[in-house]
Amino acid sequence: EFRPETLAGLASAHPAFDVHAVRRDFPILEERVHGRPLVWLDNAATTQKPQAVIDRLAYFYRHENSNIHRGAHELAARATDAYEAARDKAARFLHAASSDEIVFVRGASEAINLVAQSWGRRHIGKDDEIVITWLEHHANIVPWQQLCLEVGARLRVAPVDDLGRVMLDEYEKLLGPRTRLVAFSQVSNALGTVTPAREMIEIAHRYGARVLVDGAQAVSHLRVDVQTLDSDWYVFSGHKVFGPTGIGVLYGKLDLLNTMPPWQGGGNMIRDVSFEQTLYQPAPARFEAGTGNIADAVGLGAALDYLERIGLENVSRYEHELLLHATRGLAGIPGLRIIGTAPDKAGVISFVLEGIRSEAVGEALNREGIAVRSGHHCAQPILRRFGVESTVRPSLALYNTREEIDALVVAVRRIGEGSS
Ligand code: PLP
Repeated sequence: EFRPETLAGLASAHPAFDVHAVRRDFPILEERVHGRPLVWLDNAATTQKPQAVIDRLAYFYRHENSNIHRGAHELAARATDAYEAARDKAARFLHAASSDEIVFVRGASEAINLVAQSWGRRHIGKDDEIVITWLEHHANIVPWQQLCLEVGARLRVAPVDDLGRVMLDEYEKLLGPRTRLVAFSQVSNALGTVTPAREMIEIAHRYGARVLVDGAQAVSHLRVDVQTLDSDWYVFSGHKVFGPTGIGVLYGKLDLLNTMPPWQGGGNMIRDVSFEQTLYQPAPARFEAGTGNIADAVGLGAALDYLERIGLENVSRYEHELLLHATRGLAGIPGLRIIGTAPDKAGVISFVLEGIRSEAVGEALNREGIAVRSGHHCAQPILRRFGVESTVRPSLALYNTREEIDALVVAVRRIGEGSS
């Protein structure tokens, strides 16, 4: 049986939040890049993995590897137990009412496509409306656009103000008897805005609309409780929350999931198949056709355990201070404009430097070992809302330090001065 306390990454306790102890859990942070210590500030793109996750994956392949559910032998039982334990962990992590509400998918994008294609095709028709916001990642725009084209529905977009906040009164004005669905992110990947998710959901429900919350950028920064939020679906990607790539979660209310037709057909998702008809499993199995990403689901479970042990409240508090420190430092640089200055932000700072292409800033930072993303961050509409095509985007995680932020600020200041 797998005993997590035997793993190196979990052996070191973090009684109070200690960033240096946390950093020791992430071996990649010891890498050097261009002769400098790696400064990983591209966490909104993907996060690094603690030793606990790396070890858990290795343990799975050494001791448990098998296909699940189908086999009647010891390793099949171990693999199934490990996979289902990961589902339980994801349910606890989101405070879902039941593990059956957790569907494993490849990531946030796949989860959104699943809802669009399964629920959307059945419940959204001609002249119906889907409401999203200007803040959305392309993953929460394109699947809805595709659905609208297919069924003749209309996509409506709630505007944001000059600080990057969703304008709630304008949002509510968009809702009406034709609104079937509202989909929005809890944290914007481009600006870092934290949206008033609970209020937006409550408003949407008053109009009888279902709500999908894109939690891809939220789950590594703040505590999520899907029951308090009352969202109908909630999606996130494992790789953005210190877990492996290729695994993610679609949470859905159980009665809702069980009314949704399967999206893909194949093994595992059926109860009985004949050439005349197929009977499907209830959720979540009906949405998990074929062999899933078993090992990485188990790895994700280890990542969620890791984060729970540190405590999301500790993470939020620590990162908030770090974000303030970074914002103060960057805002003091001549010619630097921060895009997205909402009071409620998490994890992300987007900026442009006058007279220098964002890509050039990113390249210059890379030469100093500092990894940030520069570009449109798969969120072109919101950047255009602020009159830019790309920004430089440092993004934070629990292992970043004030010293790393200071190194970033010094480097950006120097890059800015070099241009004048
Ligand atoms: N939604 C948001 C807000 C994101 O930031 C991302 C990834 O950047 C996604 C969705 C898509 O996630 P994935 O590429 O893991 O499917």
